[in-house]
Amino acid sequence: MSSGQPAVIYRKGLDLKEAVAGALSADYDSSLVEAIKGDGYRYAAGRLTVHLAHEFGFCYGVDRAVDYAYQARQRFTDRPVFLTGEIIHNPDVNDKLRAAGIRFLSDPAESTERLGPGDVVILPAFGVSVGVLADFQARGCTLVDTTCGSVLNVWKNVTRYARDGFTALIHGKYKHEETRATASQALTFPGGQYLVVLDRAEADLVCDYIRHGGDRDAFLARFAHAVSPGFDPDRDLVRVGLANQTTMLMSESLEIGVVVGEAMRDRYGEADLAAHYRAFDTICSATQERQDAVVELLDHQAVDLMVVIGGYNSSNTCNLARLCAARVPTYHIADAECLASGQTIRHRPVTLGKSPAAEIETAAWLPAGPVTIGLTAGASTPNAIVGRVVQRLTDLTASAG
Ligand code: SF4
Repeated sequence: MSSGQPAVIYRKGLDLKEAVAGALSADYDSSLVEAIKGDGYRYAAGRLTVHLAHEFGFCYGVDRAVDYAYQARQRFTDRPVFLTGEIIHNPDVNDKLRAAGIRFLSDPAESTERLGPGDVVILPAFGVSVGVLADFQARGCTLVDTTCGSVLNVWKNVTRYARDGFTALIHGKYKHEETRATASQALTFPGGQYLVVLDRAEADLVCDYIRHGGDRDAFLARFAHAVSPGFDPDRDLVRVGLANQTTMLMSESLEIGVVVGEAMRDRYGEADLAAHYRAFDTICSATQERQDAVVELLDHQAVDLMVVIGGYNSSNTCNLARLCAARVPTYHIADAECLASGQTIRHRPVTLGKSPAAEIETAAWLPAGPVTIGLTAGASTPNAIVGRVVQRLTDLTASAG
């Protein structure tokens, strides 16, 4: 479909940063969190002590995306403004954007088919696929592109792989918007291919195939939804370039890089390795800093439990929870309301991406007597929510135990 009108794309905001700064601060900042940071990331009230990770919450990419969305709403008051879906994986932020009149194309009542010149579409921090972008452009929509620079960096490498005849082996969740968008970049060159692996176990299956070959049909059935159309493991695992969703567990991405590199070395020899295998670091620094900070917190503070705050579909929050759960009892909560009482907490069970993310309830989660809680928040969680959680913990420990 073509409107005949060229699409306008804003990639660096809309010159309204100062105009929306007050609204952003009112919606997402927290004076309590600022006070805790100023106090060495420690907070004490009665029998409660909280240790806050030194890096947590909104990353630079999310900060920018939300800022641009507010600017778009302010700039185009006379035009419909749409988001393709969630701008970031935080329900509170998305609700606020809805309340400001931004419409979500992912809602059943909306349709991209009706879009045309005059409509404004905000592209999320994790980007959209090549085909989706082309469709918006053909319709002549005005686009506000908030795709994070760290995601763009991954895309650049994946298109390079495709250009050079390397299959992009992506460590990610194939249903995640960012991974779908990244995978689509592999198809921008003729013959470009991709394969998405969720974890080390799936990477091991790929390594086995690289080393020994195997049952082609069984392999394709195993990765049915995670490969490019026409993928052939006998042809497309000969040259492989590693990439990843920016929010995966860094240690696992690095491990996958090592095992795939070893498989390639075993199959083709050290001398020919560069002709068959490429890798580059695509975990974004914000993800890495949040993961490092929580490890450091647990290395230096004795905590009874960890509370990890973030949307249940937020990949980086789920990975923070995985890191913590390996060390101490951990509760991944969406917001302060999840702390129902000193007896009951509602939370997402800490699992790998494939497992269902339905919220569960756990009883007797808050120990009696003095309690020390470690706290962190995913890259899409505003400080306002972190502050409300600290306040709720204060209230609960004052009233129970
Ligand atoms: S988590 Fe990283 S890649 Fe994703 S928006 Fe934030 S800074 Fe960008």
